[in-house]
Amino acid sequence: MKKGIISLLSLSVLIGLSGCNSDSGSESIDYGKKATGYLVDIADEIEGIGAREASTPEEEAMGNWLYDKLTGFGYDVEVQPFTYQKGDKLLSSKNFIVEKQGASEKTIVLAAHYDSTGSDHGSLGATDNGAGVAAAVAIAESLMQESLPYTVRILFPGAEENGLNGSLHYVRQALDNDQLDNVIAMINYDTVGGGDYVYVHAAHSDYAEYQSTCEKLGLGEADYNAQPHVRDAMLQASIAVKGEEGQYTVHPAFPGYPEGETGSWSDHAGFACAGIPIAYVEATNFDINGKWGFDGYSQTVNPAAWDCYDAENKTACDRENETRWGKIWHTEFDRLDKLEELFPGRVEQQLSDNVNIVLELMTSAGYISDK
Ligand SMILES: [Zn+2]
Repeated sequence: MKKGIISLLSLSVLIGLSGCNSDSGSESIDYGKKATGYLVDIADEIEGIGAREASTPEEEAMGNWLYDKLTGFGYDVEVQPFTYQKGDKLLSSKNFIVEKQGASEKTIVLAAHYDSTGSDHGSLGATDNGAGVAAAVAIAESLMQESLPYTVRILFPGAEENGLNGSLHYVRQALDNDQLDNVIAMINYDTVGGGDYVYVHAAHSDYAEYQSTCEKLGLGEADYNAQPHVRDAMLQASIAVKGEEGQYTVHPAFPGYPEGETGSWSDHAGFACAGIPIAYVEATNFDINGKWGFDGYSQTVNPAAWDCYDAENKTACDRENETRWGKIWHTEFDRLDKLEELFPGRVEQQLSDNVNIVLELMTSAGYISDK
C-alpha cells in the first residue's frame, strides 16, 4: 500500500543527492523536481504533516512548516493572523506572505491555500492543495536566485476550504493599506495536479458570478476585473515551456460558463473583485458529463474513481446511483499512495510543469503587460 510513497520518497532522495553532487551551482537545481519532495513533507501522513483542516492544530503545523521553509530560503515572512465566523464559532487562522523585489514595483501575486478538507473521507490534501503549496514553495526558493523584471509576492492563505477566509482577509486589509496598488496580476494555484488535464481560467465575464463574494469585501461591479490577459499570458508561458502539445488547456464553454472562464469558488475571487486580472490553474477534466454536467467537478476518467464509468458517453453508467463521479479532491484518493496507484508519475510531472511554467512567466518581462 505504501509503494507510491516509497517511490516518491526515493525520488526526493535522488533529487537531494543530485543537488549535493552538482558542482555547477544553483543553475542546475531542478525546482520542478524539488516540489515533489515538498509535497511529501506536506501531504504524507507519516513522513510529513498529512491532513490539515482549517483552524486545527494540523493547519497550524502546516503554517509553521511554511514559516520555517520560507525563512530558511532567506525571506522575511509576514505572518497575518485573522479570525472568521463559522456558524456560531469564531475561528482563527493565519496567512503567510513573502515578497521578492523585482526591477519594477509592478507586482505579480501567486497564491496557494495551505489548509485541506475531506479528512473524514480519508483525504490528506495531496493535490488540494498540497500540490499548489509545494509548487509555490519551490518557486519561492528558486526566485531567491533570480533577478526579476516584476516584483513577486507569494501568499499562502489559511482556511480556504470553509469560505476563502484567508484570501478575503488578505484582500480586505491590502485594500485598506494600499498594498494592491502595484499588483498587475494574480495567479491562483488550487489543485494544480491529479486531474486528467491542467487548465488555466480567467474570471467570469458576468459580474453576477462574483457578486456575493465581492459584497463581502464591500466591493461592487465597478471594482470588478474579468480581463483574460493573465490567463493568456500563462498559456503563452506554458507553450514556451511545454510546446503547443503540452500547453495548459482552456475549458470549452458549458452552460453558464463561457470558454476559459471560472466561478468564484477559490482564492482568485477576492482579487478579481478588487480589480486585479487573475489566472486560476487547476487539474480536472471538463470533457466529463459529471453530476451537474460538464462543469469540471469530475476530475478523471480513471474507472477506479467511479462506481462505473461509461467511457463512450463520458459519464456514469448509472447517473442516478453513481456516488464517486471521478472526483479526487476531498476524497480517499487525494493522498500520495492512492494517486501513485491510479496515475503513476502524473502528479510529479504536473508539479514540475507548473513550477517551470510560472517561473518562465515570472522571470521574463514579455508575458504580462505592464500597464
Ligand atoms: Zn482547494
